[in-house]
Amino acid sequence: MSCLPILLYHSVDVTTSEPYRRWSIQPSLFAEHLEVISSLGFDCLTVSDYVDRRAGGALPPKPALITFDDGRADFSEHAAPILATSGMPSTMYVVTAAIGRTSSWLPIPEERTKPMMTWADLRSLRSAGVELGAHSLSHPELDVISSKQARREISASREHLEDGLDLAVRSFAYPHGYHSRSVIKITRESGYDSACAVKDRWSEPDDDAFALSRLIIDGGTTAEQLESLLRNPPARQPREQRVLRLAWRTTRRAKRKLRRAA
Ligand SMILES: [Zn+2]
Repeated sequence: MSCLPILLYHSVDVTTSEPYRRWSIQPSLFAEHLEVISSLGFDCLTVSDYVDRRAGGALPPKPALITFDDGRADFSEHAAPILATSGMPSTMYVVTAAIGRTSSWLPIPEERTKPMMTWADLRSLRSAGVELGAHSLSHPELDVISSKQARREISASREHLEDGLDLAVRSFAYPHGYHSRSVIKITRESGYDSACAVKDRWSEPDDDAFALSRLIIDGGTTAEQLESLLRNPPARQPREQRVLRLAWRTTRRAKRKLRRAA
């Protein structure tokens, strides 16, 4: 089996603030992206379907996964109808304490008041081929908070979603993609079957099911650029980038300590 693209989107909307532009894609461009994915012969799966089929040796020849993080209301307004028309399954990871509220954790002031999906919105996605996964309670950097806080964020978000939707929640996505060995262990222990990270490369067939690599799709990615990306898988992440990631975690931990001491 070869590697596969797991695409990560955040917002599909007609308007967005300038600082958030990287994370938001126009609905018409999103529809073009889906056409590219389909025309290249990819078979889209939900994350849990992928993990199950990978374990069972029953994957289609060219699988691809479309994922969304956060749970913004623009998903049900713009993305879900386009996905439904294309018949492509997808996976949405929801910040559960923000359901029916706003994206108040974002550092961009203009984006903090954007509406998130309601419980009714989420329920209507269930029958449309959208898998619903958890993305923590409040979107913290899980690898720099205490194990106790991380366990609550990971475990309680699953229970919150299961209670609200009356379904089994099997997959988790680390906020910002930040995870560590300890965070992976907690996620396994919290009853999930899989978890998505962000590594800006294709996912390898032997990726840990609790650290699946995803590619962030920039809001300005044209259909031609997506096609080029999907025809030419990026190389495995070089070691230097992994070292830089660990150094960045140390910096974030130090910053957090300083903020708490202030
Ligand atoms: Zn997120």
